Order: sequence, then C-alpha cells, then structure tokens
Amino acid sequence: MRGIAGAGAASQTAEKGNPMIEKIVQSDGEWKKALTREEYEVTRRKGTEPAFSGKYYDCHETGVYRCVCCGLDLFSSDAKYDSGSGWPSFYEAVDPFHVTEKTDASLGMARTEVVCARCDAHLGHVFDDGPKPAGKRYCINSIALNFVPAGKEQSARKQAP
Ligand code: FE
Repeated sequence: MRGIAGAGAASQTAEKGNPMIEKIVQSDGEWKKALTREEYEVTRRKGTEPAFSGKYYDCHETGVYRCVCCGLDLFSSDAKYDSGSGWPSFYEAVDPFHVTEKTDASLGMARTEVVCARCDAHLGHVFDDGPKPAGKRYCINSIALNFVPAGKEQSARKQAP
C-alpha cells in the first residue's frame, strides 16, 4: 500500500451517509509521488487501461481487491465474474459504502463512474448489464486495484509505509 503518508493529518470528517469512511485527501503532487505513472494516470486523471492488458481481468484467485491508492477493501473475488470485456468485472462492491458512484458525461456517453469512497481514486464505471440478481457490472481498471490473496490480509497491511 502506498500513498497515505501524512494522510491522517489531512483526513476530513466522514461524508454524510457514509459514516464508516474517513476521507483521505492528498494534493495532486503527493499522489504523483506516491504512485507509478500508470497508476496515477488511471486513478487520479481518470484514465483507462487498454482492454485485456491489466493483471486482473483473468485472475481467478480467492481474495480481496484493494484500492491501489489508499488500501481500502473494494471488491471480493466472490463477486468477480468473467464479463469478456477485458477488465476485471464484479457484480457488487465488498461494501456499498466503499465505492461512490458519480455521473460521467465524458466521451459523449452517459456513464456512471465508480470511485474509491475514501480517497476518490477513479476505479472505472458501473453498468446495468451484469449477472442477475444484482444486474450490475463494475468494470474496473486492474491498475487501480491491489489484489491480496485470502489469508494474507494482515501481512499485506504490515507493508504499509
Ligand atoms: Fe482509495
């Protein structure tokens, strides 16, 4: 996990309706320093990795996918499915309070952007063509995620700066 040095001091009061999440706020320069160029372009500049290029679209291991910026648990392998899109796809978030959905009108399309509820990292988009019963397809950039295999959750936390 990278990118949260000094985040405690910069934290703000939890958002209304999102009582468990204390926001992490860093300057653009701080994020740039904390992330790789590719991570920064996707998560802080709303970029999109090319389809079938990321490390997780074909990952079938059991575990949890965390925000690459702040380490918040975002998606479980339990909700992951093969959408054929070339991006990791999930039918639900690990906790509805861990992701925030925003209207995105860029590229001339009405889409719903998905961001990390804690650090506002751009993750991808959510569509209504997912499997039943949820019917949702969270289409997420691999590079916005950090996969932690089941059983390694605590040791992964200890790698935090
Ligand atoms: Fe985050």
